[in-house]
Amino acid sequence: MATTAVERRLLIGGEWVETGAWIDVRSPYDGTLVGRVPKAGAVETRRALDAAEAAMREPLPAHRRAAILDRVAAALGERQDEVARTICAEAGKPLKAARVEASRAVSTFTMAAVEARKLAGETVPMDATPAGEGKLALTLRLPIGIVGAISPFNFPLNLVAHKVAPALAAGCAVVLKPASQTPLSALLLAEIESEAGLPAGWLNVVCGPAAEIGDVLVEDARVKLITFTGSSGVGWALRERAARKRVSLELGNATPVIVAADADLDDAAARLAANAFSFAGQSCISVQRIYVERDAYDGFLERFLPLVESLVVGDPADEATDVGPLITRGERDRVLAWIEEARAGGAEILAGGTLEGDLLRPTVVARAPADSKLSCEEVFGPVCTVAPYDTLEEAIALCNATRFGLQAGVFTTSTATAFAAARALEFGGVTVNEAPTFRADQMPYGGVKDSGNTREGPAYAVREMTEDRLVVLHV
Ligand code: NAP
Repeated sequence: MATTAVERRLLIGGEWVETGAWIDVRSPYDGTLVGRVPKAGAVETRRALDAAEAAMREPLPAHRRAAILDRVAAALGERQDEVARTICAEAGKPLKAARVEASRAVSTFTMAAVEARKLAGETVPMDATPAGEGKLALTLRLPIGIVGAISPFNFPLNLVAHKVAPALAAGCAVVLKPASQTPLSALLLAEIESEAGLPAGWLNVVCGPAAEIGDVLVEDARVKLITFTGSSGVGWALRERAARKRVSLELGNATPVIVAADADLDDAAARLAANAFSFAGQSCISVQRIYVERDAYDGFLERFLPLVESLVVGDPADEATDVGPLITRGERDRVLAWIEEARAGGAEILAGGTLEGDLLRPTVVARAPADSKLSCEEVFGPVCTVAPYDTLEEAIALCNATRFGLQAGVFTTSTATAFAAARALEFGGVTVNEAPTFRADQMPYGGVKDSGNTREGPAYAVREMTEDRLVVLHV
């Protein structure tokens, strides 16, 4: 172990646990060892479920859950620099983006504390039918049970927060499996939660082979809900196998944007240049396909391309860096191959398409064939396509021509265009005069079609993680 590398333990039943085997965590930028974590398997995952089950036998009242969530938010606020540097080191996320993620996690916990305090059932109007006369009825909003949480590498802190904070707000214990490439942020968060007074067993973190841990979460009847954020193939396969559980899926996208000729082109170009390449495009809502009304196409590119060229590519730990590495060299080579496929099909590379050192430069592609991977699949790299359109109907059809449906955007000064697009775009969310990469943590966030089947954001996740118990009183 290098002296700067961090060694963390798994959290199971309030104990920091070793297993005898280790997973090395390496910098996606230069391959240096940034830390290691114990490698768990089915045995440790079952122990974690035992601990979660034991914890839930002694429910925590809402005020205690809320107070813990508030203390976690405060501690995350105080430890922002450490948290951001952990995200940066293990994910290769540029420090400025890592700082945004760290501060957003504070909001996620803050909003979850609000939800814990207002979690309540409702009364049922029993005398509205003859059968109900003489009865009172109400619902209790109860925790669904143990939550199995599986998170991706690209927001290693805040997407963990979006699972564990609402689960605690709802009164559910969690067994979390973070992405193998980025377990350190999750374990740092677990430390912060323990220090904030979370009793043993409410949060358990196991790292290790995904299929082995996933199988236990799928097969063990004590897990009542699996909340998964990651790629659509893995997510939908989990749901098929866990037919008797709730399975909440937050999956990918091939994010489209419409820029109408009446839009503020300077503003659109600036927002899209920032949001197509941030974290090298490794966000599920990274801007990927930009459709510009033909009259504005040249004017948009005149503004957009210099902004793209001016993005700083380099070491994510450098405060000035905008675009760092992809998570692995294999991912970088895949994205290069997709660019090459489009080029071979007649596309024109307007910017990037080449390496700067080992890093892929921000890449803008025109005339990408409609059936190329850049047009159809989720790129998850620093690449966007640009294309002109003639009518709004055509632009909407182009946006919708994908199996994904997470978020889309439209830039226009016309409210008629904005609302026509908002109604017709088949996505979970539509942004107007903002890049569709925008997310504030209290929003209902999630997709349709292959992009998922749920909404995250503490209020919405708490709803999923609880269920109604009806109580009828004869009076
Ligand atoms: P991924 O490969 O699907 O991995 C996500 C998580 O699933 C990881 O913890 C992974 O573990 C685990 N996993 C893999 N195979 C599994 C299996 N058979 N059973 C159970 N768990 C399994 O996705 P990723 O590359 O980390 O993340 C990128 C994807 O996430 C993109 O598609 C992106 O769009 C999507 N995403 C969606 C949202 C959203 O909110 N909609 C947000 C962020 C990212 P290992 O790491 O150990 O393999």
